Amino acid sequence: MSGPMEFDLIVLGGGAAGMAAAISAARALQGKRSVALLEHGPRVGKKLLTTGNGRCNLTNLGPLSGHYHGNEPAFIQTVLAHFPSRKTISFFESLGLLCREEGEGRVYPYCGQASAVLDSFRTELEHLGVRQLLEYHPQRIVRQKKGFQIHCTEGIPSCRRLIVATGGKSLSSTGSDGSGYRLLQELGHTATKLFPSLTQIRTDPALMRPIKGLRCEGAVSLLADDKTVRREKGEIQFTEAGLSGICIFQLSRLSGEFFTLHTVNGKPTRQIAVSLDLMPDWEPSTLTSFLVSRRDCRPYAPLEQFLAGVLNKRVGQTLLKAAGCAPLHRPSGSLTDSELSRIAALLKGWRFQPSGLSTWNAAQVTAGGISCREFSPHTMESRSIPGLYAAGEVLDVDGDCGGFNLQWAWSSGILAGQGAAASLLAPLNNQKGAERFASYR
Ligand SMILES: Cc1cc2nc3c(=O)[nH]c(=O)nc-3n(C[C@H](O)[C@H](O)[C@H](O)COP(=O)(O)OP(=O)(O)OC[C@H]3O[C@@H](n4cnc5c(N)ncnc54)[C@H](O)[C@@H]3O)c2cc1C
Repeated sequence: MSGPMEFDLIVLGGGAAGMAAAISAARALQGKRSVALLEHGPRVGKKLLTTGNGRCNLTNLGPLSGHYHGNEPAFIQTVLAHFPSRKTISFFESLGLLCREEGEGRVYPYCGQASAVLDSFRTELEHLGVRQLLEYHPQRIVRQKKGFQIHCTEGIPSCRRLIVATGGKSLSSTGSDGSGYRLLQELGHTATKLFPSLTQIRTDPALMRPIKGLRCEGAVSLLADDKTVRREKGEIQFTEAGLSGICIFQLSRLSGEFFTLHTVNGKPTRQIAVSLDLMPDWEPSTLTSFLVSRRDCRPYAPLEQFLAGVLNKRVGQTLLKAAGCAPLHRPSGSLTDSELSRIAALLKGWRFQPSGLSTWNAAQVTAGGISCREFSPHTMESRSIPGLYAAGEVLDVDGDCGGFNLQWAWSSGILAGQGAAASLLAPLNNQKGAERFASYR
């Protein structure tokens, strides 16, 4: 790298939170202080390109409360209140990006391309003169009297203020390999247990084999010790390894908590199950009479066709087998009332036993992280190490699917950038004040 290696502010990690932090800091500093973005990958914003299936669901205009998880809910809501989703829209407008709201409050770039979000960041970073230190691999951070040295294999950049925005552990091919947790822990911060979230739920592959690759609409519930703890509606995807789809992703956080901590919503739990309701708009009582009349209307129809037109054919046949109705070549008229009750019960509550979650690489976010109570929710500054800030997924905050995770990245990143800039300008402002005061005398 050419040029000096001393900066007023270094932002570690060129992802969503890091870029937002660097821009907000550089805007506030107005060229009076230097800002660098240090990224260990060859380019910034790689993960952003994968978000929202390449469309980037960048925020959500619905209520933000109730969609975040972590040990410090009040901390999360304070940060979000400082920078809510309306401000995100204005922020992106200031970057020249037009946004569009779709169903359930989800907001995307109007053009539907995640690359447009990244392009707008890159142009602004360049315009503001933020230096990009790419392919710098930090080994450790050393505190100095007036700042920090980042010891990298490639050199030792130093700074007076440092924002750590290194992301979590999910999809490490985009650069978020979890190394930021270690860097912060070595400085004395603590981390909660980590587990993948917004991901597939694994079940017995033998059960999935006949229906893998199929999809159907329905409602899914997570049961903890037989009690429903979360219910979602949407498209259920049957995969080789288990269950997927956004509605399943929303249940994966609690499943991950169970597999990692043996609790669900903080309550000790012995077992969990996922229950599928494949006819959520039907009452159980009407469903049973519907099945009785279906049997009595066409008793000659082979059983393998009994649920044709109701469910995907193969899903229907697999459900009939799961209800103990095999062989399926017999006529539908041979179904007994108790068999019909079992079919109705499975249509409303087909249970699968989760055996775990997918790998980190299949997960969208990391649950757990650096403890939020060690930071200020107003500036994101460390309570124990002045001049050190943290933002984004590296903290113990994760959100539901729907734009909530990126909203967290923007809110915390922008707050950290503003906090670091304000503290860098404070001596200048104090000095200006003193000068003004002196001129009055
Ligand atoms: C497939 C997928 C789809 C998603 N879709 C959405 C969506 O549509 N909406 C939504 O809200 N959320 C979505 N998310 C989640 C969202 O992308 C993340 O929550 C968000 O990117 C986190 O931002 P971050 O800046 O904290 O971390 P990241 O975006 O992961 O950025 C961290 C950056 O730090 C760098 N880094 C890491 N360690 C170091 C180090 N030691 N030194 C230097 N640099 C380092 C990384 O290379 C990376 O560039 C999705 C995630 C995935 C994986």
